[in-house]
Amino acid sequence: GSDSGSAVEDCIQVVIRVRPASSLEQRSAEHFVAVRALEGPTGRHVAVEVPGAQPQVFKYDRALPERAGQEEVFEAVGRPTVDACLSGYCATVFAYGQTGAGKTHTVTGSLPQAARGRAAAAASDLGPTVGLAPRMFAHLFERLREEEARGGGQFRVAASALEIYNEAIHDLLAPGTRGLKLCSDKRRGVYVEGLKWEAVRDAADVMRLLRRGDAARRVGENRINARSSRSHGVFSVTVERTTPRDAGGDDDGAGALGSLERADTSAGSSDDQGGGGDGSGAGSGPLRERIVSRLHLVDLAGSERTYSGAPAASPLGRSKHQREAAAINTSLSALGRVVQVLLQTQRGGGGGPAHVPYRDSVLTHLLKDSLGGNARTTFIGNVSPSSLCVKETLSTLSFLRRAKCV
Ligand code: ADP
Ligand code: MG
Repeated sequence: GSDSGSAVEDCIQVVIRVRPASSLEQRSAEHFVAVRALEGPTGRHVAVEVPGAQPQVFKYDRALPERAGQEEVFEAVGRPTVDACLSGYCATVFAYGQTGAGKTHTVTGSLPQAARGRAAAAASDLGPTVGLAPRMFAHLFERLREEEARGGGQFRVAASALEIYNEAIHDLLAPGTRGLKLCSDKRRGVYVEGLKWEAVRDAADVMRLLRRGDAARRVGENRINARSSRSHGVFSVTVERTTPRDAGGDDDGAGALGSLERADTSAGSSDDQGGGGDGSGAGSGPLRERIVSRLHLVDLAGSERTYSGAPAASPLGRSKHQREAAAINTSLSALGRVVQVLLQTQRGGGGGPAHVPYRDSVLTHLLKDSLGGNARTTFIGNVSPSSLCVKETLSTLSFLRRAKCV
């Protein structure tokens, strides 16, 4: 079950996850556990011990200790996020932290084999290393099947996967489609022109797309050039519900989708980004109401501050290395500023509508409609327990503390 009622009210949630020490870290005498999620009735504090100084304690909405498994992360973050999405909110989950802190493990983890036939495992019986995304989509489709069974309309779900590398957008489902442009219009809001959206009918379909996206993100990667940690990975789904206009049950707030976006689709809608390209005739017949909701999972680039020069042994050219670092810095600091302004606005500070600097980076511009306003955002701050990572851990904890304005 959910930890507290605040998950529903606050539009920005911050959860810290401390990963267990690796076997190398456990063996090495130079590593000791310097970062702990403090147990206790609320489970909200993280303590960092810096040798020779007072331990520092940070407070968040939730702090998950080393032993917290993937299932627990799903219960803390995944389930409420999917449920918010089905109540009509745009929902986004970010994994933030230095390379090696556990972002990809948290967001994706091991991907379950797509089952033969169409059935996928239920959210509750996925293996222990399976990450948030597969669990969330299993839960999403369970909820949609329930809604359909009780006459709540018909659902179409479409998914896309992209990466932002050096401030350029590349389509992970259509490798070779690179340098895509951001556009916006009244009806669709901000969208990526030409991005491939594929229709998905169940959790197994989504799993196949996650695998494809993951493989495309790793192309050209080797032990030294961990390119995927220098880019932001964004996996998105849109959920579209179609009901006959006069169908009851929409006004009591109990329907699966709220009022995020409504449009008449008596005309064809297959050009829409949520249409998935194989329009199934939802637009034909009597007037129908179409309601779209969105969900984004973002595996951010490593937040570590890169050194001013590339390591001597690195095969990367110095300028390439620095360009990557500058691009990551641009987007992560833009993200921090956007979140700061949103929280100030939320708390009612300042006069007049605040300027939210979405356009300062491709990442924040892309997610404009999913940050603030009618959106639910969760940051998972991934940190290592090791003393050797303390500097970056403090940087992650401070970034997210600022985001939370504690
Ligand atoms: P990042 O994506 O932040 O660079 P990874 O997710 O790749 O980090 O994690 C680095 C390593 O630590 C991987 O081998 C991963 O399997 C392992 N790891 C991370 N978090 C956990 C965890 N909570 N439990 C067990 N292993 C973990
Ligand atoms: Mg990673």
